[in-house]
Amino acid sequence: MSSSLELVGDKLPDNAQYKNRFEIPSASSNRLYVIAQNKKTNQWSCSCPGWIRHRKCKHLTSLQPLLAQHDKEQKRLG
Ligand SMILES: [Zn+2]
Repeated sequence: MSSSLELVGDKLPDNAQYKNRFEIPSASSNRLYVIAQNKKTNQWSCSCPGWIRHRKCKHLTSLQPLLAQHDKEQKRLG
């Protein structure tokens, strides 16, 4: 079964620091932002200016239920 997060964005390959990278469309422009989960801390982050400045943004806030579900799915897979 594919992750529910794949319904909101395209999955990108992992890099050195981040896993579960997804490209998500901005609501207010035609830009794309990347959300990703830190490999060490499992914290989610976003590439948008709001997150960079405040460590909090509407993307991650609105996706929170899906992120939690994604974490649960991963735990179940072991
Ligand atoms: Zn964001």
